[in-house]
Amino acid sequence: MAMLPTNVFLKILGREIPAAILYEDEFCLAFRDAHPLAPVHVLLIPKKVIRTHAELVPEDAAVMGHLHLIAAKLAADLGLTAGYRLVLNCDAGGGQTVPHLHLHLLGGRAFAWPPG
Ligand code: 5GP
Repeated sequence: MAMLPTNVFLKILGREIPAAILYEDEFCLAFRDAHPLAPVHVLLIPKKVIRTHAELVPEDAAVMGHLHLIAAKLAADLGLTAGYRLVLNCDAGGGQTVPHLHLHLLGGRAFAWPPG
């Protein structure tokens, strides 16, 4: 039987490797990035295996909306009253290194535009 390829986020989801988990529900998990690029750097992942943004299908609309609502809740819970940045890297050209869709929630410092 073919095995689903695993990755570091699926291992965090399965509690095979540790992470600083901030939030979990039926649809998603949020945990601190191991290499934070800002004072607050949280990753939000769907529990559904979605490799990347370009592979979203119409049935994923609810879970994607949910990820955004939880990101806003976490931003409030973490005190990001001045604002925050959400980043979603798609595929190698977009800077994606882990092949499981994820939203970066960054805050606690100023952010430049355009992004690097
Ligand atoms: P990407 O470059 O794919 O958009 O983001 C992947 C993120 O996952 C990076 O910011 C990286 O620091 C983070 N990351 C990679 N491995 C681990 C890990 O084992 N634990 C945690 N918490 N974050 C990780």
